[in-house]
Amino acid sequence: MASSPDSEPPIPIRAALSRVRRYIPGKPVREVQRELGLTDIVKLASNENPLGPSAKAIVAMREAAEHVHQYPESTAPDLQRALAERLGVPEPYVFIGNGSDEVLRLLCATYINPGDRVVVPGTSFPTYANAANAMDAQVSTIPLKDFGMDLESMAEAVVGGGAGAAAVAPAKLVFLCRPNNPTGTVFDEVSFRRFLDRVGRHVLVVVDEAYHEFDDSGFTALSLLPEFANLVVTRTFSKIYGLGGLRIGFGIARPAVWSALYSVREPFTINYMAQVAALAALQDEAHKEETIALTREGRERIYRLCDELHLTYVPSHGNFVLIDVARPAVPVYDAMLRHGVIVRPGFGLEHHLRVSIGTRSEMDRFEVAFREALQ
Ligand SMILES: *Cc1c(COP(=O)(O)O)cnc(C)c1O
Repeated sequence: MASSPDSEPPIPIRAALSRVRRYIPGKPVREVQRELGLTDIVKLASNENPLGPSAKAIVAMREAAEHVHQYPESTAPDLQRALAERLGVPEPYVFIGNGSDEVLRLLCATYINPGDRVVVPGTSFPTYANAANAMDAQVSTIPLKDFGMDLESMAEAVVGGGAGAAAVAPAKLVFLCRPNNPTGTVFDEVSFRRFLDRVGRHVLVVVDEAYHEFDDSGFTALSLLPEFANLVVTRTFSKIYGLGGLRIGFGIARPAVWSALYSVREPFTINYMAQVAALAALQDEAHKEETIALTREGRERIYRLCDELHLTYVPSHGNFVLIDVARPAVPVYDAMLRHGVIVRPGFGLEHHLRVSIGTRSEMDRFEVAFREALQ
């Protein structure tokens, strides 16, 4: 009996999945060590916290290790309470997930029927389109304008319209990223209010604020939650809190937004170590302030270096800076790898590299490698 080749699934996968792209993460340190025989690697490719997790989180995890034979509390109620208090919202407004990525995916799994329209920004976080496509959505990708969300065009895409065969149904969900990854840009309150008024109340507006803590603009979409029942804000412990490896993030919205998600989610995706570490990290203001100060300093340093090298960059509200290297970026990236410094090309941008902010000594290494690579 002939069997099919190993490369083919035994039965066809869902047709919609042909539009889902596998996520390509920043190149892992161990991979570079293996491939280039280097030992001392600096990774500035995944917007991680270069200071590591809070010491308080590490202590909490050590103690928690003894209790992992027990299932965690399904909804992480202690953390939920602490976050609600911190953010000034009632507890049921907070929904915790296995990374904010899970929250974004659950929103699509809960709200999107096959064929529903979802609007996403171009040159942004790939999860938005992937999560929507996995549900067989019709995804409209709206390119950025001057490296920021084009809120006017996005609102137009959400509203849809037209007549007859060309009629476009209104979107059911729209993703915004603020500050945007990989450009670091933010939109202001006035434009966002105009956007919300224009799109109306029948679309879920999801604002991904994964980098909120690094943003010095003073605005958060959270402030409009009392006015807009269709607004969802997501945040994460992966970036400023340095807990990316634990997978924990959260969303804030009216409880009615979340109620169905509790049935759709798996019951134990927020592991116990992550729950206690996040709770401890939340209490460590000093770690957070130090991270913010280091990030500001690192961004300024990159700006100065770019000015000196006559390169342009996008002023950033995140813990990373997008640099226009004014030539194909991949060879520059490769040359930097050979100096043991991992940055990030891609995002559909031929001439740009995204550089995460590191410690002072990591930024020293970056500067040397960058100068050499540009020679
Ligand atoms: C890193 C990142 C996230 C966070 O993902 P987690 O699943 O919480 O680790 C979400 N959105 C954007 C834009 C990001 O860059």
